[in-house]
Amino acid sequence: MDNQLQIYNTLSREKEVFKPLHPKRVGLYVCGPTVYGEPHLGHARPAVTYDLLFRYLKYLGYKVRYVRNITDVGHLENDADEGEDKIAKKARLDQLEPMEVVEFYTRSYHRHMDQMNVERPSIEPRASGHIPEQQEMVQKILENGYAYVSNGSVYFDVAKYNEKFQYGKLSGRNLEDLQSNTRTLDGQNEKRNSFDFALWKKANPEHIMRWKSTWSEGFPGWHLECSVMSTKYLGETFDIHGGGMDLLFPHHECEIAQSVAAQGEEAVRYWMHNNMVTINGQKMGKSLGNFINLQELFSGEHKLLEKAYSPMTIRFFMLQAHYRSTLDFSNEALQAAEKGFDRLMKAAETLDKIKPSGDKAFDPAKHKAKMLEAMNDDLNSPVVIAQLFDLVKVINSISEGKEQIAAAELNELKEIFNSFVFGILGLQKPECADEKGDLSGELIDMILEIRQEAKKNKDFATADLIRDELKAKGVIVKDKKDGFEWELEG
Ligand code: ZN
Repeated sequence: MDNQLQIYNTLSREKEVFKPLHPKRVGLYVCGPTVYGEPHLGHARPAVTYDLLFRYLKYLGYKVRYVRNITDVGHLENDADEGEDKIAKKARLDQLEPMEVVEFYTRSYHRHMDQMNVERPSIEPRASGHIPEQQEMVQKILENGYAYVSNGSVYFDVAKYNEKFQYGKLSGRNLEDLQSNTRTLDGQNEKRNSFDFALWKKANPEHIMRWKSTWSEGFPGWHLECSVMSTKYLGETFDIHGGGMDLLFPHHECEIAQSVAAQGEEAVRYWMHNNMVTINGQKMGKSLGNFINLQELFSGEHKLLEKAYSPMTIRFFMLQAHYRSTLDFSNEALQAAEKGFDRLMKAAETLDKIKPSGDKAFDPAKHKAKMLEAMNDDLNSPVVIAQLFDLVKVINSISEGKEQIAAAELNELKEIFNSFVFGILGLQKPECADEKGDLSGELIDMILEIRQEAKKNKDFATADLIRDELKAKGVIVKDKKDGFEWELEG
């Protein structure tokens, strides 16, 4: 059992041995961001969690098709099908075209995830690029009798569905509870029941993002895109669907209902959910003043932060917790993670320099077995990291001449250490991060001081060269009377 991957399936509420539909291929779908703001910790945690899964599945030899969507339409401000579209609202406030908002924050999301060494998915489909497919699914659900048209909008008939199937099976809710817990909001009289959800919404006159349909000019409901795009690219039934726990209800519950109502069976075999992030023990929220985005973490510019934390510190910190545990951010915990990450990277450097000595063999194989066992136990990355620190002790002790290692075992140790640290956990040496164009503010200041010197010496060619090279790396330099200013592009 220990050499087989087990995944905690939210649907069965237990760890199950992972058996993909195809012996060599895995289909993985993860709910991606709604792109209307700068990426924050709530984006980073699922991205890192499923990156760990993606990397590990590939390590196990699977060919993985990883689909992660971009929500660029239909995600309304409150999940009860009311309020403004999140992206349209941002577009209105900033006087931008909604697709400008989408492009801007999609790029920002990519940039930040690249900094955290999160691999890009195989396919990154957008909701707005799959309107006909979504309309087709609405039509199918209507034809199968599990939806109704009301005033140009189409709603999923939860009660009707629940007569034959079980709505609430993923989240453990039942219709009676939902009935008594849902407030009837204004404008919900279009629905037969307050718990019904929109498959298609008729657009108000001021609504910008709209498409023609047989029901009305409007836009798809948020839950629909994931049902449509996951099955379009992974097949009617596929292996793993992941996302944050905050999406479990109603989003994923609705996805299950939509798939069953449209195609008669569930699409997803294993449901995975990562737990949430807290800040100093509190839920992160704009109104609580503890909302920290990734840029603020990386630069240290937030009143709650004592200093800047590198993207790799954040990644390492996340991996030190199991993905199903809540993860509490505090300066203390981040600084401890920073030290730990540092120790690990120093050991990687030391390991590179170690020469085999003698034939007394330290045997790294049992460490590898333990790390694999931990990964197979529902991606238990904290146990993997604890094992790696045991190896760090050994590496340091060999380096100090207190222990010996033979040539074959040294190669094995290097292979194991590097494949877990850099391959599976996806950590990166700090200099690699710099190569990616991640210049620190201090370094930019230093380069610009040199440029000032060049200007003083009337070496304008060098000064211009420095300015142009910085520009190529996204640093805009502005000359001032008494010095310079710089800012990062975009
Ligand atoms: Zn989704």
